[in-house]
Amino acid sequence: MSKLKYESPNIKQIHAGITSKFGESSTLKPITHINTVPVKDLINTYGSPLFVISEQNIRNTHKEAYHAFSTRYPNVQFAWSYKTNYLDAVCKVFHQEGAWAEVVSGFEYRKALKNGVSGDKILFNGPDKSVEDLTLAIQNNSPIHIDHFDELFSLVEVTNQLQKRAKVAIRVNMDTGIKPLWDRFGFNYENGQAWDAITKIMYSKNLDLVGLHTHIGTFILDPNAYYIAASKLADLAIHIKKKHKHDIQYIDMGGGFASKNTLKGSYLSGMEISPSFNEYAEKITSALLNAGFSTEDLPLLILETGRALIDDAGYLLGTVLANKRLSDGRRSMVMDFGVNLLFTSFWYNHIISPAQECSLYTEDTVMYGPLCMNIDVIRDSINLPPLNKGDHVVVQRVGAYNMTQWMQFITLRPRVVMIDVKGKPHLIRDSETSEYVTALEKIPNHLESLDL
Ligand SMILES: *Cc1c(COP(=O)(O)O)cnc(C)c1O
Repeated sequence: MSKLKYESPNIKQIHAGITSKFGESSTLKPITHINTVPVKDLINTYGSPLFVISEQNIRNTHKEAYHAFSTRYPNVQFAWSYKTNYLDAVCKVFHQEGAWAEVVSGFEYRKALKNGVSGDKILFNGPDKSVEDLTLAIQNNSPIHIDHFDELFSLVEVTNQLQKRAKVAIRVNMDTGIKPLWDRFGFNYENGQAWDAITKIMYSKNLDLVGLHTHIGTFILDPNAYYIAASKLADLAIHIKKKHKHDIQYIDMGGGFASKNTLKGSYLSGMEISPSFNEYAEKITSALLNAGFSTEDLPLLILETGRALIDDAGYLLGTVLANKRLSDGRRSMVMDFGVNLLFTSFWYNHIISPAQECSLYTEDTVMYGPLCMNIDVIRDSINLPPLNKGDHVVVQRVGAYNMTQWMQFITLRPRVVMIDVKGKPHLIRDSETSEYVTALEKIPNHLESLDL
């Protein structure tokens, strides 16, 4: 047995009302393993900090989501939202599970092609598509989701020049009761702009309207917003059929389902309030099934779910660099990961657990990252037991957006490991080196010599 750690006595002021009805410290069980692999071994082999992704978790979550929709609706397709996590290994797991690709830039589009996704299964979203991007997408027969009229006009030009037809959908924004309104993307439903775009496409020579798309927001906690959105898209599709005798092949409901993370300022945890896939699926599918399509005209239902499919699969392992007392007596801790790696700490209170056996005594702690910058705060208040310099922690639910929005700021980005379904870790992104980061820089001649 290893020697017990010395813990200095600690007198703690009890603030009336600070504990919730669930009590304190219920989340304080240490996390010593991820998918049967010891955290200690992972850090010894790959270093700290370290992102870890569970392949099994991705596959299970994708199956659960697909099941929720496919048991309620005959024709369902998921398309993996690349910007949520576009590490190739992660994308490939989703594609192996049957997901198409959903991309929002030329960079992501080319990544999807390189990952082996055929062009007709890459949905091209976003407000910024260059003529080069559009040309590539047309040549690969990809559905292009038009964001604004200027893009529509470019498409007319490009298709005329290429003498080729393009498969298009429009992105529609609408009032679903969610505030603030996301009306900066796509064409508005209520003011008739969406219908105007549809008419222009229907009368165009080389554009084939194959779908209708919306993405109403993100972390939407009210499934009913999706009922409203699906009803409005279905209404457009049915009117297109009436007026133009044209069938819409798919309705794409975008992403936006909440993950199980807890938003800052929320009293209840994400585990308690985030709706299940079944609840979202019930609203969306019942809106479409009740919309008045004839059985043979029922469109394919596409979902571009991002964060809800990957958040749980990602972990960030880290190490305590230092313990400190702030001038007001509060305990603080400096970790080897900060907001450079954990972008989502700006709006989530992540669950952060010790990675080794620890004492039951906890203290309110401010958790800082390693950056020399005041806003580098991971948690401004978290109950943690005493942890020593060198002890490890596990941050849960970090799979969405952190590995794409991470910053190369002040320091280098660490390794990412995927644990396969048999429990074997694989390196899927190496740590950055100074050479890698500076490779693109150039020094003008007159700055070569220094005379200090
Ligand atoms: C970001 C995005 C998604 C994924 O959103 P989540 O909120 O992560 O589910 C889907 N579709 C489009 C168009 C997006 O921009």
